[in-house]
Order: sequence, then structure tokens, then C-alpha cells
Amino acid sequence: MKTISIPEGMQTAVFVMESGALKDAAQVVKEYFPGKTPWIVADGNTWAAAGEKVAEVLKNAGLTAKEPKIFPAVPQPHPYESTCQELAKMITPDMVPVAVGSGVINDLVKRASGIAGVRYFCVATAASVDGYTAAGAALSVNGLKKTMPCPAPYAVLADTDVLESAPAPMMAAGYADLFAKVVAGAEWKISDLLGILPIDKKAWDLVQKNLRMWLKDSSNLGYLFDGLASTGYSMQVYNDSRPASGMEHLMSHVWEMEGLTYQGTDVSHGFKVGIGTLAAIRLMEFIIGLSEAEARKLAKPCETLEERQANVKELLKKNCYGDPEKIVFEKFKHGAAAEERRELIFRNWDQIRVLLKEQIFSYADTKALLEKANAPVRPQEIGLDKEQFYHGLFTAQLIRTRYTLLDVLYETGLLEEGAKTLDIMFEE
Ligand SMILES: [Zn+2]
Repeated sequence: MKTISIPEGMQTAVFVMESGALKDAAQVVKEYFPGKTPWIVADGNTWAAAGEKVAEVLKNAGLTAKEPKIFPAVPQPHPYESTCQELAKMITPDMVPVAVGSGVINDLVKRASGIAGVRYFCVATAASVDGYTAAGAALSVNGLKKTMPCPAPYAVLADTDVLESAPAPMMAAGYADLFAKVVAGAEWKISDLLGILPIDKKAWDLVQKNLRMWLKDSSNLGYLFDGLASTGYSMQVYNDSRPASGMEHLMSHVWEMEGLTYQGTDVSHGFKVGIGTLAAIRLMEFIIGLSEAEARKLAKPCETLEERQANVKELLKKNCYGDPEKIVFEKFKHGAAAEERRELIFRNWDQIRVLLKEQIFSYADTKALLEKANAPVRPQEIGLDKEQFYHGLFTAQLIRTRYTLLDVLYETGLLEEGAKTLDIMFEE
């Protein structure tokens, strides 16, 4: 059984990855969940891709498994908190749930196991998300996108033969999700510089140290899975998604809450994040291109509380985002506090430009790399028209207290000017 080393202090005890690793499933259960009864949870696709084989391996090793739970392949299972609650009721303390699948199946089982208070085993079927090794599950709770608390898997197994035969768009989605870490890192550097949120070295290194290497070659499955796994660890270490997610993820959450579909199916997490990433990179180039004097000249005056209230009301009128107003006004500064923050940013403007230049890939390179990975690079390729795209951009600032690039631009009165440069994204 070939294991990949795991950083110290993780909730995850073992990570097996190699060609043909499904055969090790029984050994993992025996060593890491001794005496427990395995219970496979999969969907129609992941059952065919790996679940059936895992069931056979367990049986041949003399392990008696509980009747598997197989969700239908169509419609694809949704990441609902209510489903987790149902699954949790089916888990008994003598069981080890075995999630065989990618993002959604893993999140459902992770959260259900957390509710039931048992450790679980994740068998990954596609390199499509960074959530395999992360604590917390991205779920829809009464229509709202939330990260619900729960421990990371105790054991992870990735058979590279299975990952390689996953549908190509899943790997492209994983690559786009990994690319988003360029943005997350840039935002964290700015927050650190402005004294808003210091960088945590351990979490930072897990994501950023090898990021450029992982992104260099989108066809390298080892790099991709390694990058996604390491990102998950960083969220375990930091106990928050700051190391791995920025404005691009918030944009994707807005579109998800709006139920974005393209040609009748849900748009994958990674594809929405990829479009958000390109927008963020373009906005960063907008900042890099402005001297401090030019930025000050271009800046709109700070909004008053009344103006902000009216604009927020307009942005949230679809009323599918829960109640973010508390978040908005926790973050929103007006009057002297707004002027002070603006001054702080402008005093650091040139340093921000330098750190952005160091951290990011150019817009052209980002687009080329995403395109090479077969990820969509134009909003219309995931079903977004200009209205929904721009609405998502402005609304993303409202749904979390996290300080992002959108806040930097908003607080300097440059968000609208910056957004004007994004029309380029729609061009062929
Ligand atoms: Zn993500």
C-alpha cells in the first residue's frame, strides 16, 4: 500500500495513492477502522467507477459490509444539509462510512459522519475539488451556501487509474479550483500588509510553496491531486478556508445560490470558480496598471450609509442569499472610518502593486492555462450573461466578512472603474 506523507497535526491519518489502489481498501478499513462495519455511499456513476470494486475488495477480505447506499446518477445528488441529516440517522457507532465519489458525495458523507460522531473513509473518484482533505463541508442549507462544520476524513484513498478515467471536465474543474489559490494568496498578502489578517506561515506554505509548479502542467494528475490535497490540509491547519478561497469563490457561491445551470445541468464548482478567478486576475492587473496618483484621481467618493443601504437592497433583491445585510454592515465603513481605511490602502498602494505582480500570473497567461486545461474562460460558456456576471461580482462582496480584493476596490472607490475592464472576458 503506497501512502503519501501527511503534514503533522492533521485529522487525516492516512492517504493512499497509486495506480490500482482500490485493492488496498480492505487493508485501510482493517488497519484504521478495526472492528467497524463498512458502509459504502456512492452514486450511480461513482458506483460503476469504483464503488462496486471497493465492495468486492471488502468482501474478498472477509469484511461484511452494510447494504450500500447508491444515489441515482441522474439527477446528480445535491449537497443538501437535509440529506446529511438523513444519512446521519442511518449511521451507527459500529460503522465506518465509505464515501466513494467526488465533491458532493464526499461532502454529504463527511457532514453525516460528523453529525453521527464517527470517523469516515473517503475513496476519491476524480481530481475535481480541494475538499477531500479539508475539514467542513460545502452545503446548501435551506437554499443558502454554507460551510458546515465536520472533521476531515480519517483515511483517503485515490486510485490514479480511477482519477484518470474520470470525465475530463472534472479534472478541468479541479485545475480551475487549484488556480483560485493564486487569488486567495494575493488577497491574504494584501490583508496581511494592511494589518487586517496576518498570514499563517504553515497554512500559507501548504498552498503557496509549490503552487506555481502544480499549475504549470494541467495534464499532470499527480501535481493536481497533490495540490488539491495540500490545499485541503491547509484548511484543516487554519480551520478556515482563507488559505484556499477568495473573491472568486464568493462569486461562485452567489451564482450557486441563484441556481446557475448551463444547458440544463448544474455548473461545476470549479468552472464557476475559474471564471471568478479570471475576473479577479483582471482586476488585479487593473490595480497594477494604476499609479497611486492615478488611483486617487479615479476614486469615487466614499458612499454614505444611506447610499450603501440603497445599493445593497438593490443587489439583494432576488432574495435568495439569506440575510447577508448583517455581514455587509459589519464590514462597511463610512464617514471618517471609511476615509481612514482609504488612506491606509493608498499609502500602501505601490506595495500592493508590487506584491500582486509577484503573486499572480498575467490575465493572458491565466486564460491560456485554463483554456489548455479545458476549463471555460468566458462567462457565457457557463451560462452567464453580462447582467448576471456583473451582479455576481458586486454581490460577492456582501456575503462574507472575509476581506477580499472586492473590498480593496470598493473601499478605494475603484470597484466600478475596475469592473468596466471586465467586458474583455466576454470576447471571443
Ligand atoms: Zn473550491
